[in-house]
Amino acid sequence: MNYKNITVAGSGVLGSQIAYQTAFKGFQVTVYDINDEALERAKERISQLKPHYQADLGATQEEVEAAYGRMSFSSDLSQAVADADLVIEAIPEVVSIKNDFYANLGKTAPEKTIFATNSSTLLPSQFAEATGRPEKFLALHFANEIWKNNTAEIMKHPGTDMGVFQDVVEFAKAIGMVALPLHKEQPGYILNSLLVPLLDAAQRLLIKEVADVETIDKTWMVATGAPMGPFAILDVVGINTAYNIGRAKAEATGDEEFQKIADLLKSEYIDKGKLGRATGEGFYKYPNPSFAQPDFLKN
Ligand code: NAD
Repeated sequence: MNYKNITVAGSGVLGSQIAYQTAFKGFQVTVYDINDEALERAKERISQLKPHYQADLGATQEEVEAAYGRMSFSSDLSQAVADADLVIEAIPEVVSIKNDFYANLGKTAPEKTIFATNSSTLLPSQFAEATGRPEKFLALHFANEIWKNNTAEIMKHPGTDMGVFQDVVEFAKAIGMVALPLHKEQPGYILNSLLVPLLDAAQRLLIKEVADVETIDKTWMVATGAPMGPFAILDVVGINTAYNIGRAKAEATGDEEFQKIADLLKSEYIDKGKLGRATGEGFYKYPNPSFAQPDFLKN
């Protein structure tokens, strides 16, 4: 892997984090977005990341400023990718937007440039054709708050070149991630393939009145040694997100349990302002939730 110049396309929540983390680890980073207004917002977002790097990682003032100094910003795609070794795409999760972007990018970027998508729910094979270079395209998926939650799931599609795949695995390590290679396409990658069924199962147990929130979480924590149960995790995810997913699943499948789950999340939590950890209350009350009390696991 001899990447030096990295372009991050899309500078929203994840794009700005990916760009700053990559610059923090010494790469030259160009941030691309659709217009200068979006880039101004990105500069603000990125500036707000600096104190987190100082508080959470012990980075010095000089280090956080030097990282910012390795970044440049452009709303001109051909300029933004002119010397890119790798483009990481973090634009909206909308098939038509991504398709148009890759068709443009494929024509604009130099032949050497590798493309990686940070898409959470779309598979790289959906866009491989549009890129015009399927062998140099794959998924590189990060988690929110990348500097702390430092997973990078690297996922091939059937046409990805194995050397490209290995290089991106090395790149992920070079920017401080724990690299998690997936050799086949898998909706939800590894993490959500494990997590979503767990969270769904927990909510089904609750809606069927099999057991209460604390008993369900306690079972998981005592039996597996995990520090949180599924409802504590849902509080981190946010009740709004859980509600949107539940409602979408109910609509897509006609599954009545999902509808009941969505209704419960709306009436008992969202309508009462209990949106999860971020608002101080969800299934639990923060900052001292009962599941974190020393005697919670005893009885
Ligand atoms: P976001 O809405 O915060 O940001 C999207 C950015 O893309 C905006 O700055 C927007 O101006 C820009 N944009 C729109 N059209 C564009 C185009 N044609 N070219 C370049 N830029 C364009 O979105 P986000 O939450 O950062 O998500 C981006 C991607 O990352 C999605 O694919 C999502 O699935 C994935 N992702 C998000 C998270 C998360 O927690 N938010 C986590 C992992 C992966």
